[in-house]
Amino acid sequence: MPGKPKYYLTTPIYYTNGLPHIGHTYSTIVCDTVRRYKRMRGYDVVMTTGTDEHGVNVERSAKKAGVPESEFVAKMAAEWRALWDELGVQGDEFIRTTDLKHAHTVQWLFKLCRENDFVYPGHYTGQYCIYDNAYVDVKPGENCPDCGRPTETVTEANFYFKLSAFQKPLLDWYAKHPDFIQPEARRNEVLSFVEGGLRDLSITRTTVRWGIPVPGEEPHVFYVWYDALTAYLSAVGGPNYEKIGYWPADVHLVGKEIIRFHAVYWPAFLMAAGLPLPKQIWAHGWLLMDSAKMSKSLGNVVRPRPIVHVLGMDALRYYLLRETVFGQDGNFSYDALVQRYNSDLANGLGNLASRTAAMIEKNGGGKVPKPAALQPQDTALATQAQAAIGQVLELYDNLAFSRALEEIWSVIAATDKYLTTEHPWSLGENDADQQRRATILWTTAEVLRIVTALTHPVLPESTTKVWSLLGQPGQPGSIALDDLRWGQLAPGTPLGKSQTLFPRPSPVTTPAPPGTPTPAAGSTAAAAAAPQAAPEKIGIEDFTKVEMRVGQIKTAERIVGADKLLKLTVDIGTEIRQICAGIAQYYEPEKLIGRKVAVVVNLAPRKLRGVESNGMIVAASVGPEGRPVLAGFPDEDVEIGARLK
Ligand SMILES: [Zn+2]
Repeated sequence: MPGKPKYYLTTPIYYTNGLPHIGHTYSTIVCDTVRRYKRMRGYDVVMTTGTDEHGVNVERSAKKAGVPESEFVAKMAAEWRALWDELGVQGDEFIRTTDLKHAHTVQWLFKLCRENDFVYPGHYTGQYCIYDNAYVDVKPGENCPDCGRPTETVTEANFYFKLSAFQKPLLDWYAKHPDFIQPEARRNEVLSFVEGGLRDLSITRTTVRWGIPVPGEEPHVFYVWYDALTAYLSAVGGPNYEKIGYWPADVHLVGKEIIRFHAVYWPAFLMAAGLPLPKQIWAHGWLLMDSAKMSKSLGNVVRPRPIVHVLGMDALRYYLLRETVFGQDGNFSYDALVQRYNSDLANGLGNLASRTAAMIEKNGGGKVPKPAALQPQDTALATQAQAAIGQVLELYDNLAFSRALEEIWSVIAATDKYLTTEHPWSLGENDADQQRRATILWTTAEVLRIVTALTHPVLPESTTKVWSLLGQPGQPGSIALDDLRWGQLAPGTPLGKSQTLFPRPSPVTTPAPPGTPTPAAGSTAAAAAAPQAAPEKIGIEDFTKVEMRVGQIKTAERIVGADKLLKLTVDIGTEIRQICAGIAQYYEPEKLIGRKVAVVVNLAPRKLRGVESNGMIVAASVGPEGRPVLAGFPDEDVEIGARLK
């Protein structure tokens, strides 16, 4: 695309030993939002994400799973990719560190560093934390200072990178490029680390097999950071980066725990090789759960998928960007998520869009009305919306997502107030009243158009619906934000079909008996996404009557004449049961084999379509059509027959 300025940004290259949690999701959503925003500002954007697939952890996990490493990482990479798809993330490059082009880039970078005399052979003995993939500065027998887990004493032949030679060049670079590390707190942290002196760095290992070989130096393989960081470059051409034209990166977005690797090691590697340095490293904070870091051992890790299934991807994207000040630590809370969904999305944007469309449908024959003479209150709202455009763009430029959304939502609130004050619904049918109503409805629809354009980078799915509801051509992603102005909404434009924007999440349990009050929208979402009590309370003695166990599906087949049912045989530890499940429209039988599911084992046997079913498989019921989603245990190694409590 000639003429367009290029913009290159990256998420961290995620380690494939585990599955994505909310922290990874946050980094990636931020990056995707910036990507969409920059596109709308006229940039030719490339966003890279990917998976870091080498190292001793992967070697061990693959062994534990009884599969070759390549198979293990392929499966994990597919999981990561699938989740990003579900979140509407449009990565342009998905780099896997097991890609051949990546291996070539790492080997090339090493060759350049070696030719420039910044690499030498040596030996190293030290305490190594396999969880953090780093040598740590402790005595044998002591635990890792970062994660508290046991360290291992490792002695090995390896190649060193002369990091010590880069203390001054790095400090000079930081001084000359004051925005290189953001935010300020991270910059200060890195500066004091580098000022304290840099030790040379082991960049190869001989104790690990699963890695990129060092050419001519086998059995050396590249060590994690030298390998992983280079993925940013291999994604955009590696040795051919000049021809491809995206390097150096405009920004590497990272979590604060990996700032040192990105702001010290990575620029040093590039300096040593004589390659251009990225323009900026932006480190965001952590998402905490009740002010504690999420961790598997605390059991408070939040997984994004159930939230997306219940509330939709936009809800999660909005919540994460609205609730956390970018750069600082944020707190994750299901209650706050549901509250944001209800107040800002369903009752805010969603309600404004649907009532505006309904009023235009009723009074304007489904076409955008033509405004007549403006009154001061119309002009005031127009001025606020027009001013918001400039402010929001500036805030997005500074990655101040929370404030940008706050600004947009203050325009929505002002419009709600405007409608309440002007109450177009109570105007009569004489000419003056009709003209006044047309002016109010046009003004409201124009606010909605501007809000939709500004919110699109954060809410890609719902803004696309609003855009077509307003009868606007194309996709909101193709709006040129630089040309966005108040007053561009053409009267006479026919509205599109109305669609539900932020539906009330459907119950995931059995429907309440008639007469019980409808729970507030979102309360069931919290129940599905978090281990919380359902609205109607039962005693523990009632709960313990239900015996649920982990089962593994052994066989699955369709039932002739029953297109919704699958006949399954399930191993529940003590026996193999035949169970019918109403999931045939959503699950391929052959893909279910081997899957671990939650089974109610003490349900009285019954016959479904003439087939005996002895137990019940637990599934969430999602969306208006009640799509079943099997409850499962994707990332824990749970024993078959284990009781669910
Ligand atoms: Zn550690």
